[in-house]
Amino acid sequence: MKYYSLNHNAPKVSFKEAVILGLAPDKGLYFPESISPISADFIANIENYSNEEIAFQVIQQFLGNEIPESNLKQIIAETLCFDFPTVKVEENIYSLELYHGPTMAFKDVGARFMSRCLAYFNKDNKDNKNTVLVATSGDTGGAVASGFLGVAGVEVVILYPSGKVSDIQERQLTTLGQNIKALEVDGVFDDCQDMVKKAFLDKSLSHINLTSANSINIARWLPQMFYFFFAYKQLKSHNKPFVFSCPSGNFGNICAGILAKKLGLPIHHFVAATNVNDTVPQFLMDGNYNPKPSKATISNAMDVGNPSNFIRIQEMYNHDLEQFKKDFSSYSYTDSATLDVMKSIYKTDGYIAEPHGAVGYLGLKEELKNLPNAIGVFLETAHPIKFLDVVEPALQIKLPIPSQIESVLHQQKVSVKIKNYEELKSFLNP
Ligand SMILES: *Cc1c(COP(=O)(O)O)cnc(C)c1O
Repeated sequence: MKYYSLNHNAPKVSFKEAVILGLAPDKGLYFPESISPISADFIANIENYSNEEIAFQVIQQFLGNEIPESNLKQIIAETLCFDFPTVKVEENIYSLELYHGPTMAFKDVGARFMSRCLAYFNKDNKDNKNTVLVATSGDTGGAVASGFLGVAGVEVVILYPSGKVSDIQERQLTTLGQNIKALEVDGVFDDCQDMVKKAFLDKSLSHINLTSANSINIARWLPQMFYFFFAYKQLKSHNKPFVFSCPSGNFGNICAGILAKKLGLPIHHFVAATNVNDTVPQFLMDGNYNPKPSKATISNAMDVGNPSNFIRIQEMYNHDLEQFKKDFSSYSYTDSATLDVMKSIYKTDGYIAEPHGAVGYLGLKEELKNLPNAIGVFLETAHPIKFLDVVEPALQIKLPIPSQIESVLHQQKVSVKIKNYEELKSFLNP
């Protein structure tokens, strides 16, 4: 499989090259040259296959023969070391809980898959280190730190906005040590992301082998298709049109859902639910794509003013807005609407949703007004404990601390404070 740059001004590359480069030299995101539907028969009988078998069917074409079948199966098995339950919240409304992994965020899937691909590609290349450089608005950092911890030949440098991630998130990315380094940036998430982008284009750093692990990296993005298939497998017997609502920030998750549909998964409609960072909902309303600086919200993993994967979604619809709107809606919600619905879901349904999932639920409810016969699934992208500062006072409950979190709570935070790009550069290239 070859990947081309969406800026169309760079050579095509293999899966391996795209994973290692992250972003193309012309600053474009990589996109697969062809997308072939998987067997309709397989999808019709999906309940007879294990998650690992499904994942293999789904991802295989995107790697071509670059990773041998047995190694790929091993990577998949290590990636999918936890459950992906769909939990009934109301009649015809399900939460797809993506948070049962090691850092209790859906990003565990992409991070674990990518780290193991990179480890495979590095296995014969012991002196040539890769440095994974990643900006996080909260959950990416912890998932990448955990996914890459101890992976030979890979150094991980994580940038996060100081004071803008939760205590648990901060501990997950600052306490592991070994090959994981955390840089605490005086700024917002977009500042972190801009610095990361700049470093990738900086010729004076070209000897460092920088690799991204944000959802711009195809090895983070592609495996996110898996859980749309897993949800379908669990709810298929309802025999209803499927609507998926993704709480969206960089739009990697929903973009993977759309790719799953291109592979043949019968998804009727997508909802991208955002907080007040509403660049995409605005675009759907007036056709102007107008990125703005991000605003801080209680669903901070979605505080993104210029969603990097949106360009991939447009590519899948040939940049045809009318066609796109048939499959896709996008709605934006304030923090107060989010808090209100968290309370009402808890009161009425007894379900604890954290702020991101709650935004997804709001978007789903909105869309189901038009589609009363559909079955709706919202993605619960993080465990409520990761946003306990919001969840506990809002619902007036005390959450038990899961073991995955307990283990980082008493560790010492280690971070390096930086203010600007020059300081990042001297950290990478002392
Ligand atoms: C990253 C993240 C999101 C946003 O996902 P995208 O793929 O960037 O749209 C939503 N919720 C949580 C908890 C996240 O960590």
